[in-house]
Amino acid sequence: MKNSPIAFLDLKAQQRRIAPELSRRLAAVMEHCQFILGPEVAELEEKLARFAGASHCVGVSSATDALQMALMAEKIGPGDAVFLPAFTYTATAEVALVLGATPVFVDIDPRTFQIDPEHLAFRIDEVARRGTLAPRALIGVDLFGQPADWPRLNAVARKAGLYVIDDCAQAFGASLHGERLGRMADVTAVSFFPSKPLGAYGDGGALFTEDADRAALFRSLRTHGEGSSRYEVLFTGMNGRLDTLQAAVLLAKLTVFEEDLAARERIARIYDAELAGVVEIPTRVEDATSAWAIYAILLPDGKIRAPLQAILREEGIPTAIYYPKPLHRQPAYLTHHDGTPLPVAESVSERILALPIYPDLAEADARRIADALRRALRSLS
Ligand SMILES: *Cc1c(COP(=O)(O)O)cnc(C)c1O
Repeated sequence: MKNSPIAFLDLKAQQRRIAPELSRRLAAVMEHCQFILGPEVAELEEKLARFAGASHCVGVSSATDALQMALMAEKIGPGDAVFLPAFTYTATAEVALVLGATPVFVDIDPRTFQIDPEHLAFRIDEVARRGTLAPRALIGVDLFGQPADWPRLNAVARKAGLYVIDDCAQAFGASLHGERLGRMADVTAVSFFPSKPLGAYGDGGALFTEDADRAALFRSLRTHGEGSSRYEVLFTGMNGRLDTLQAAVLLAKLTVFEEDLAARERIARIYDAELAGVVEIPTRVEDATSAWAIYAILLPDGKIRAPLQAILREEGIPTAIYYPKPLHRQPAYLTHHDGTPLPVAESVSERILALPIYPDLAEADARRIADALRRALRSLS
């Protein structure tokens, strides 16, 4: 049994914990058959808004669509600069390009991996001096489940008149200075992709805002820009609704979300204790909690990453790389990058390695993973 394979993520175990509530919720939808914007969507929106301490929540089809709607609401398009970290998932940058705007990549903090507010200020000045693009928006990312430095990001963004979007796809449930994420920026986008801390059984997402007019606009945009009656079209929108069955799944999952977050924190602490001094463990953002979407260590040298993964794989221990390339080095973005060096994002992408972390990961397995990692590192040094 010692080398029985460990899953990178086990959604089946979580499903067993919520089985009765999940069945009840799904059966209710099958009974009323309101598959589009059924009552579960509104119930979930209300519960999520309360959970995050936000005034408005709008359920949408994914975080990618949420980000796109956030930019559409601000009429961002050709000639506009959208500032965002170079070290993130492609969706953060993709939405700017889809709307014809230009992503401007910003470097990250070498310890927390979050977008660097100082480099953001530098990049805004650079774009303003060049004069070819209008600085319009910032998409900050709460990477790996920890909050970005919102007080400093907002200060820099406000000075430049930027609209501020929180890509909170990985971090719903995390908090900063005692407040849950959801109201750190003008608008917050959350993902319910199955592997995220609060995951559905398919695609889903949500937008949070304090602005009632903006929330109404999001509701219109998610349904093709419709007005107060169904066939009145006010805006160019999209088909971007959260579907009822996913809302039902999320309502069941929400009943164990707090305990899931606590369980992820326990796993993170085991890794911290077992690995401190052996590798660079994640630096905690100060006065914050993490949703621990990802637990990523930093290896001393990128060259040992592949052999290390191979040794661990032999022992039934999966690892993953988020992200093997910063976005400005991806083929799709090469020609959209202005060439400004982003050395931290590049160095981190070569040395980062993610370990399994999820609520149903046994603590003994977390210890086994840390132990195997220690031995593998020793054998490679
Ligand atoms: C997952 C993710 C997204 C996209 O979320 P979807 O719901 O899959 O569209 C966007 N940004 C970041 C940082 C993500 O991790």
